[in-house]
Amino acid sequence: MWVNLDAFGIALSLLTWLLLIFTDAVVVRFVLFAWFTTSRPRFRWVPLSDLGLFLLALYQLLLMLSLVSHVRAVTTDPGTMSLSSAPESLSNPRNCKLCQGRWKPPRAHHCKTCRCCIFRMDHHCPWINNCVGLSNQKLFILFLVYTCVSAIWTLLLLAAGAFCWLYSQKSWSDAPPPGSASLICCGLVAVECFAAVLFVSDFIQEQVESIQMNSTLVETYQRTHGPRTSFWEHFTSIFGPCWWTWPFPFPPALEPDYLEPALPDEAELWSQDCADDHNSLGIAGEESEEMAAKEETLSARPRQRHTDSKLD
Ligand SMILES: [Zn+2]
Ligand SMILES: [Zn+2]
Repeated sequence: MWVNLDAFGIALSLLTWLLLIFTDAVVVRFVLFAWFTTSRPRFRWVPLSDLGLFLLALYQLLLMLSLVSHVRAVTTDPGTMSLSSAPESLSNPRNCKLCQGRWKPPRAHHCKTCRCCIFRMDHHCPWINNCVGLSNQKLFILFLVYTCVSAIWTLLLLAAGAFCWLYSQKSWSDAPPPGSASLICCGLVAVECFAAVLFVSDFIQEQVESIQMNSTLVETYQRTHGPRTSFWEHFTSIFGPCWWTWPFPFPPALEPDYLEPALPDEAELWSQDCADDHNSLGIAGEESEEMAAKEETLSARPRQRHTDSKLD
């Protein structure tokens, strides 16, 4: 099992799980078990009406898919190379000085946090404490999508709970205020879900653009991309060819094509601006690899903490 021992990433991964569990507990306790109960339940051990049962089952399914996608994205090798040397047919192969001179395919990049080269590295995401590469990009996208849908569904359930509370009052003036615990917890969850929808939808859009252009985030900054065909061909190269497996959070069966070229977007391939962007993505650029390799031979550096200001 792939595990990245980065303290900052581990803390953010645990925080993600805590937020999911807190949201689930609040909605089940203060919405579903407050407003969708019945005196004659279908199952004695769950005092919920049929509608309540349906809402509970759907909600648990969404949260479970989000949580499992996250766990699999955290624990899946994002795309370390199975070949240490270049095929003989390849002329002018690149080698990574930070990986003891191992061959570095054209679409691979060295991650400073993972301390290895990742094929089709998109970026290093501290929220999943892992790189997003070819082998776990599907899991990362599923995590984003299920989290966004779960957050929207949570907001709808909170709105339904508020509506039920208002509807249950005899008159507006006599309406007692809801319990403070319920109000505080539901308010916190609403803010959390609004933020999640805004944050995550932005990243979903980036991932869709990445598939459309066949260009990872790192390649976008390097002004390169992979061979472009159709959106669906790009999509199946990440999600696998078997359509019925696409919604399920397990790694796709992919045969990485290490010889895939990184094609230039335009004439100017590199600028100092790009070098700055690389630092924020946690990758080691071509020029900086040599310097960093020298530094690493002098002293064993502590694991560099990724400080990207974005959610990733
Ligand atoms: Zn490397
Ligand atoms: Zn990484």
